[in-house]
Amino acid sequence: MSGGRESEVTTFDLENRIAFITGGNGGIGLGMAKGLAAAGASVVIAGRNKTKAQSALSELRSLGAQAEFVDLDVLKEASCHQAIQRAVERFGRLDILVNNAGTTVRKQPEDLTAQDWHLVMDTNLTSAFLCSQAAYPHMVRVGGGKIINIGSMMSVFASSYATPYAASKGGIVQMARSMAVAWAKDNIQVNTILPGWIDTDLTRKAREQVEGLHDKVLARTPARRWGRPDDFAGIAVFLAASASDFITGAAIPVDGGYSVQA
Ligand code: NDP
Repeated sequence: MSGGRESEVTTFDLENRIAFITGGNGGIGLGMAKGLAAAGASVVIAGRNKTKAQSALSELRSLGAQAEFVDLDVLKEASCHQAIQRAVERFGRLDILVNNAGTTVRKQPEDLTAQDWHLVMDTNLTSAFLCSQAAYPHMVRVGGGKIINIGSMMSVFASSYATPYAASKGGIVQMARSMAVAWAKDNIQVNTILPGWIDTDLTRKAREQVEGLHDKVLARTPARRWGRPDDFAGIAVFLAASASDFITGAAIPVDGGYSVQA
């Protein structure tokens, strides 16, 4: 197999594909990285926390995958470009970018500082723009690529304590649609996953800060459970593989039915 985009064996085969996942060192990002690795991709997980990264690498390598960690602070433009460059130098190409890094500041709008606003917008939205822009020429060089963004139920719904978070997650859907239109000519598909409520470090903090959240989520979710990072393995493989080549600009809920419950 030459590794060219014409040499697919099956529609879900990621053999010879290189994936770069921001925040792939834990939570939903690691759930997606494991799915991509199990489907044959080599994965680069990128983030700040090296302790989390070491245990993530062990998990990924135990699946038989080639996996590397690169330092990335998505708040710094140069870091986004350097991290992607390092991934390409290590593996020779880049096929799949997952813009997953995210954070939040839970306050009422009147209590937010400009610093809070910028932290959330830059981590969740500007970083996805910068990493996509950095990845673009490498994808063009190999004849196409897949960009997978992580939105939220807050891409669609709202909450009093999520003003910058909802703005960033609504924005990422529109950013993805715009890139999908612009880069279709380059055979690059750009889609967004909208997770429901998933049990991760991010939401463990939310459950401490927002009274009654745990039970509210259970009551509203038809699947009657919180999501798990491993619930994102399948959608990541689908959106990274040739199975989804005619799907672009889509926003796909992975939420146990949360968004369809009246
Ligand atoms: P985690 O807190 O486990 O993951 C967030 C990841 O983002 C971490 O791995 C972290 O890496 C990375 N990150 C944050 N800031 C930076 C930064 N400045 N530079 C580099 N990496 C950074 O939470 P989740 O897994 O839940 O979140 C993953 C994504 O899913 C986020 O975009 C979140 O908004 C989204 N999401 C989560 C939902 C949920 O219910 N959990 C629901 C909807 C969306 P490090 O530790 O190295 O900083």
